[in-house]
Amino acid sequence: MSRSEVVADIAARRGFYWPSFEIYGGVGGFYDYGPLGVAMRRNIIAKWRKIFIEPYQDVIIEVETPVIMPEPVFRASGHLEHFTDYVITCQKCGRKYRADHLIDEELSKRGIKLSLEGLSGEQLDEIVAKYGIKCPNCGGPLGKAERFNLLFKTTIGPYSTEAGYLRPETAQGMFVAFPRLADYVGRKVPFGVAQIGRVGRNEISPRQGLIRLREFSQMEIELFFDPANPSCPYLSEVEGVEIPIVPEELVARGSQDPLWLSPSQVAAKGYANEWMAFFMALSVKFLAEMGVAPDRQKFVAKLPHERAHYAATVYDQMAFTERFGWVEVSGHAYRTDYDLSRHAHFSGQEMFLERRLKQPKEVEEVRVYPNPAAIRAKYGDKMGDVIRAIQRRQGAVASALSSGADSVDVEGFFITRDMVYIKRERRRTDVEKFIPHVIEPSFGLDRILYVVLESSVVVEGERRYLKLPPDIAPITACVLPIVKRPQYVEEGRRLARALWRAGVAAIYDDEGTIGSRYASCDEIGVPIAVTIDEQTPKDSTVTIRDRDTRRQVRLALEKVVDFAIAIRSSTPFDEASSRLGATPFKA
Ligand code: AMP
Repeated sequence: MSRSEVVADIAARRGFYWPSFEIYGGVGGFYDYGPLGVAMRRNIIAKWRKIFIEPYQDVIIEVETPVIMPEPVFRASGHLEHFTDYVITCQKCGRKYRADHLIDEELSKRGIKLSLEGLSGEQLDEIVAKYGIKCPNCGGPLGKAERFNLLFKTTIGPYSTEAGYLRPETAQGMFVAFPRLADYVGRKVPFGVAQIGRVGRNEISPRQGLIRLREFSQMEIELFFDPANPSCPYLSEVEGVEIPIVPEELVARGSQDPLWLSPSQVAAKGYANEWMAFFMALSVKFLAEMGVAPDRQKFVAKLPHERAHYAATVYDQMAFTERFGWVEVSGHAYRTDYDLSRHAHFSGQEMFLERRLKQPKEVEEVRVYPNPAAIRAKYGDKMGDVIRAIQRRQGAVASALSSGADSVDVEGFFITRDMVYIKRERRRTDVEKFIPHVIEPSFGLDRILYVVLESSVVVEGERRYLKLPPDIAPITACVLPIVKRPQYVEEGRRLARALWRAGVAAIYDDEGTIGSRYASCDEIGVPIAVTIDEQTPKDSTVTIRDRDTRRQVRLALEKVVDFAIAIRSSTPFDEASSRLGATPFKA
């Protein structure tokens, strides 16, 4: 059995994940997570927080923003216009295909590999015509490639005019909340905002299990920095990590073989800035600690025509899988000031920070002063609110009224020319405004879960097990009475409860032979099995079996909880054994 077959076999049967809505025939691109999947996801998220957020709390903060967002957000972000894939419809049977995937699959049957990312509809049509590609379902002729927007649309509240969209990335929530987040951190850069949450993309024909879903989870960071000072204070901390990187110049020459560079080399060669290099290094470590060795990872640059509409530099972090080949598990994008500038423009709100100048300078500014008498005449005792709104939106008021408009809507107040004085003023200043730039690492939790599961499979003859790192394994310990005798059962149940109360994920099982129960624990990657045996009633000791080596030690019953906690926090089996006074097991 191959590794991917082992995963396919255990995923649903043992409760990691399975297709959603099965009783109604299922819907492509939706998966349920069972108890083991949920626990494993939680552990992956905990590791991500531990690597990307917890050591950098002076810089990185975490937020949660809504999953449904109003239309103006995606008009500004460019997703309404650009977040599309090409769909091709069979003229005979009506089946729809994602154009690039269809072409890729049909050509690979003929041993042809083309680079299709970023091609226009016409270019895709030309390829279909040139190679005479037909509908794989019915052999019918294919129509022209048409753009299909991947945003899920809904309505907000009872008014069908208020369109809402399921976010396709968590990122926009953080850009939209930038003014508040900037205040929270004292309006200083660099700072990063992390978010973990669900997103939706109405993928055209998802058929690759957890790799391509219509609803999935992302773990993202938007790191805001001053483009005049892109240095990362933590770079030297990750200098020991070698990054496998295929920069743009190599990709353009058709190479996919990585160079192995330190983070500072990546930055010095101009392949990425320091923050991006830093996050790449952490990402290598993140996957490696979950059992995906660095030589099964690489960062591949996207060429300009392949990049998302918002990005100036992009690397995909790829991990090698037996089932799907190289799979993108995280995207690393330099989003420049694209998102903040667009939201500033579309919302009329200010999205800048200030940097200190070395030399003070003279600047000319347009200032807006309220005319209280005119405001009172129109708004009476709401005058205070109107004045504050004008002060908050000075830029928008000045630009609307000085470009010829007679009035402007400011937070619901109708401001006419007589209600303000617009003045050009010169003053000396020692600060200047700038819109921060953004580096974004974006991880897909579901893909990572698949890659980690597949990488963990070990097949040794008849034996197969998941060599999951103990801090990722969904269950830490199995408690197994060697036979189902009341005294053993009682002791075993007591021990399982002690583990649960200590917050250790454990399973109690007394059905079947001990060999089959060990195999069953191994199959879901439980690092240790604790056996209550003949000696337990005599001297209050148990055996502890190591999943990977199948070696056993004897340990005092009262130390089992500590042993399990040590294992879960990645203490090697031998070290935990000697630390807690375990003795070699004699059968
Ligand atoms: P992107 O914004 O497209 O770079 O996506 C960021 C990350 O989300 C990718 O690296 C994937 O890990 C994950 N991802 C993107 N699309 C999907 C999908 N349809 N299903 C599952 N994961 C996805």
